[in-house]
Amino acid sequence: MPIRQLPIELANQIAAGEVVERPASVVKELVENSLDAGADQLVIDVENGGIKRIRIRDNGCGISKDELALALSRHATSKIASLDDLEAIQSLGFRGEALASISSVSRLRLTSKPAQQSEAWQAWTAGRDMAVQIEPAAHPDGTSIDIQDIFFNTPARRKFLRTEKTEFAHIDETLKRIALSRFDVDITLNHQGKRVRHYPRVKATDENSQRRRVAKVCGAGFADSALAISANAEPYQLSGWIAPAEACRHQADIQYCFVNGRMMKDKLLSHAIRQAYERYLLPERVPTYVLYFCLPPQQVDVNVHPAKHEVRFHQQRQVHDFIMQAVANALSQQPQQSADQTPP
Ligand code: ADP
Ligand code: MG
Repeated sequence: MPIRQLPIELANQIAAGEVVERPASVVKELVENSLDAGADQLVIDVENGGIKRIRIRDNGCGISKDELALALSRHATSKIASLDDLEAIQSLGFRGEALASISSVSRLRLTSKPAQQSEAWQAWTAGRDMAVQIEPAAHPDGTSIDIQDIFFNTPARRKFLRTEKTEFAHIDETLKRIALSRFDVDITLNHQGKRVRHYPRVKATDENSQRRRVAKVCGAGFADSALAISANAEPYQLSGWIAPAEACRHQADIQYCFVNGRMMKDKLLSHAIRQAYERYLLPERVPTYVLYFCLPPQQVDVNVHPAKHEVRFHQQRQVHDFIMQAVANALSQQPQQSADQTPP
């Protein structure tokens, strides 16, 4: 076959293969965009497990009429402009790929109104060339994205969708991670028109109300018994909650680790945590935790995986040891603390 340039829609669909696995990945990308836009209120409406429809409304900075088409095109981002920006990345997104990818495998409509623009506009792509249509619309300040019929034009991908119940469970889990990562954001999830979850906004300084949100996400069993961690060794910082060994769970369903605000499934971190727990853990139990690790963005590479699940730390050994120490200290202080209360 001769070499030829791929049509733009096909190129986008191929790229979509990396970011858009299922409805929950759409929710993740869209919520991250809303958070990057400074929103502190999100409403997510889902129909048929997200297979039929996902709609997300935010109160973020909006997208101006002139930029709507650009937002839907590939490699277009407002978040980085140079390699230096990438190395010190603060936003959740930066690839400029999500909206283009999603719109190439669904029917996407984007409606937005920046506060400084007097009316709202909406945009969607129709046709093979990804040409964008733009029309006036009604919308409060912020952005709504409406996605219908995911994978309608990519039957091979559609085949891999599971039941509506399973797909909804993945969306629910995605939002749990977001709820744990941003206590300052009010999040509502509706399914088939019914409110399924509501995570009200919580003050960052109030540990008690933070625990209440943790209870909503992870259950009161974990939230009530969890030990709070707060460890600092320049330039690293670890905070969050871990279950005391005897309260650790059989399932690995509460193992949340956030690196600079991003949820990660990172082998190095889970290894460090497991090692700290090792001598305390009962048979068939697994470490149970919600942990937040912060370090200077220059010391971590988030550009390893398109869905950004994995990171690469520049100083792996130091990171591993710090995490392990911090968790081990919290665990070992547990019985010691009660011993301290008993007079010698
Ligand atoms: P990325 O997030 O990597 O920049 P996306 O394709 O997800 O790429 O989004 C493209 C651009 O569209 C973003 O850089 C941002 O400027 C804009 N955008 C997307 N979603 C929103 C939103 N909810 N509110 C405001 N701007 C948005
Ligand atoms: Mg994005």
